[in-house]
Amino acid sequence: MDNRFFYKEEIYFAEHHKQNLLEHNQEKVVDMLLQNTAVGVVGGFYEEGLPIHFISQFALRNIGYTFEEFMEKTGGNFIEAVCPDDRRFYTMDLLGQSDGSEKREFRLINQKGDYVWVSEMRTKSVADNGRPLWISSIRLVHNEHMAKRHFISKISHDLRTPMNAILGMARLARYNIDNREKLDTYLDLVIQSSYHLLNEIGQVLDLKSIESGVMQLEEQPFNLHELVQEIEELFAGRLENKKQRLVISYKHVRHNQLIGDTVNLQKVIMNLLANAIKYSPDESDIELDVEELEPADPDKAGFEFRVTDHGIGIPESMQDRIFEPFERIEDSRESSDIPHIGLGLAVTKSIVQMMGGTLRLTSEVDVGSTFTIAQQIRIQTEESRQQSEKSAPSLEDMRVLAVEDNQINQELIVEMLNQDGIDVDVADNGAEAVKLFASHENGYYHIILMDINMPVMNGYECADTIRQMPEHGGDMIPIIAVTSDTLAEDVKLALSHGMNGHMPKPINFEELRATLLFWKNKHKI
Ligand code: ADP
Repeated sequence: MDNRFFYKEEIYFAEHHKQNLLEHNQEKVVDMLLQNTAVGVVGGFYEEGLPIHFISQFALRNIGYTFEEFMEKTGGNFIEAVCPDDRRFYTMDLLGQSDGSEKREFRLINQKGDYVWVSEMRTKSVADNGRPLWISSIRLVHNEHMAKRHFISKISHDLRTPMNAILGMARLARYNIDNREKLDTYLDLVIQSSYHLLNEIGQVLDLKSIESGVMQLEEQPFNLHELVQEIEELFAGRLENKKQRLVISYKHVRHNQLIGDTVNLQKVIMNLLANAIKYSPDESDIELDVEELEPADPDKAGFEFRVTDHGIGIPESMQDRIFEPFERIEDSRESSDIPHIGLGLAVTKSIVQMMGGTLRLTSEVDVGSTFTIAQQIRIQTEESRQQSEKSAPSLEDMRVLAVEDNQINQELIVEMLNQDGIDVDVADNGAEAVKLFASHENGYYHIILMDINMPVMNGYECADTIRQMPEHGGDMIPIIAVTSDTLAEDVKLALSHGMNGHMPKPINFEELRATLLFWKNKHKI
């Protein structure tokens, strides 16, 4: 055996006393190094944390450390240099004490904090003092190639899991075809797993089409409030399941008619909301803040979409990594029944970047997280606005009295109706509405939007009172109940208190516009 190659390598011992161990094991080690066209060798003890016994200069160079830096960074434990996701498998494999004849691949953390794929061959040995020892030769492998292999093995596992559940449940459904109750449960699970699978397939395709440059942005005119409202409606079921509340707020929003890729904009906000719901407890609030920033460009408006939760939070050490595909926090705080694949944030970040925006995160463990998308969005030009205004009949100059105690809802109604040139006065409760109504001449308000559950005087009492004020036009004015009480009985109750219609919350502004238009035409306003 020619040992010259080996002796060119400088070996650093973690302990002060040198040992003649390498000489004892030379043959084995050199053989292993040559087979693996090795660029480094590391040895450690079969003890918790895998304490390092020695490491070669080439091994250190691969990951960009000096010996001192490496020892300081790892505290002398090799496991600290292994990517957290690979640690369990690496330790298990090592403790299984395979003889090291086969190669294995895993990721080390380099000096910059990035992961590098290495391939390793390992052999067992014993130190002079009798402590069992492992000796590994490691070399760098092509990161891109390994990343692809990793991607495929993860994907096939993550897609198979829901697919197996679907198959299993479908079989059980067939065996229990006459048992209505069981059938119901199994079919529910089939549907649930199918949605999960669909979501995963969507994410994989998104990521792949972004990476390969196939994904194109498709811009179209849209209404910002409507886009947000649609999102809210889509999440209603999920929020209800966890008894969570989505609190939406708008700040300084001056532009509502915009041009952009609505599908992708909705997708990124929805991905963040889905995580906020998943990773925060039942009955907590999730916030979606939409803020328009100071203009930087005359044709565009800068927006921030902030999704805040009060959930488990993200440790600082993971805050960059979770944006990488398949990175997730393997930790007992996350319930294992949360379906996750670890692609959502990678897709979200890629789409935001494609749209020219940025995605930021601030988070604190057990306090919560805020993900912020900052995005410039094109403003609709006068020309395109005129075009869309031509097709939409005008509601301009209508005067609306909105009776609503919730400040956020008040702002939303005012903002939305102002966009259509409608004047809105707001009353915080029924009693205030009666006062406001009485302070104006007959015919001043064209319609009243009436919340039902309010302090001081509720919507029913308020409608009753106004109907008794014919001198101010209270007998004629259309009153529409706008409430989250949406049962058939609630609608009947509203009508029995002299109201003319009922509209469920959250308000669908298209529906509201249609209602206003109906009364405008009917009363020839
Ligand atoms: P997935 O949710 O499918 O695992 P993501 O890419 O969306 O994938 O998220 C990656 C990881 O980031 C999650 O597994 C979770 O550990 C963490 N994470 C994402 N959003 C939140 C959040 N709002 N709160 C706490 N952890 C989060």
